[in-house]
Amino acid sequence: MKTLAQEVIEAGGGESIKACYQCGTCTGGCPTAGEMDYTPRQIIRMVNLGMRDRVLTSNSIWLCASCYQCQVRCPRGVRITDIMAALRSIAIRDGITPARPRAPAFYQSFLENISTYGRQFEPMLILKTVVRSREGIGEKLGFLLGMLPMGITLMRSRKMPLKAERVQGIEEVRRLFTNAEKLEAEG
Ligand code: SF4
Ligand code: SF4
Repeated sequence: MKTLAQEVIEAGGGESIKACYQCGTCTGGCPTAGEMDYTPRQIIRMVNLGMRDRVLTSNSIWLCASCYQCQVRCPRGVRITDIMAALRSIAIRDGITPARPRAPAFYQSFLENISTYGRQFEPMLILKTVVRSREGIGEKLGFLLGMLPMGITLMRSRKMPLKAERVQGIEEVRRLFTNAEKLEAEG
């Protein structure tokens, strides 16, 4: 049976994971580490120790903002950002529910918007995430109504668009998604 580290390496980007010497530089610069249940340094260690369930159900892999701070600073060349992405792919592939199920709903909605518009359209992002991740019509509506005042303020101050706009060359963006889906299907 494959170890989690082997799976990460196969998914791409994890080749240098064993080189980690636990200096903590990655965690020190991570903007979302404070919200994670395990810091990036801990995640790397846990992958190397084969702690599959804890890693794949952690919120850390979903709270990674893919900012690449850790990756560019790692003195051992560990590609932490790519490893986080690989861990998310493995979790999705294996149908593993994370500690915070809203994070995957946000990711899925985010990517759908990029595929549709070539850019983000926040009202749709919020709507899709809420519909996917909240239980029951009452909770969905309650949350959306609670967000309404902030949404109106953002729209009035032109910080959030009312109308979705597609980027030029959206066909190129869609081609990227199609190619990525093909690669994924090929394993
Ligand atoms: S910065 Fe690199 S070597 Fe240091 S703990 Fe993070 S992954 Fe390991
Ligand atoms: S890429 Fe992810 S783990 Fe690395 S610093 Fe940014 S948010 Fe943190």
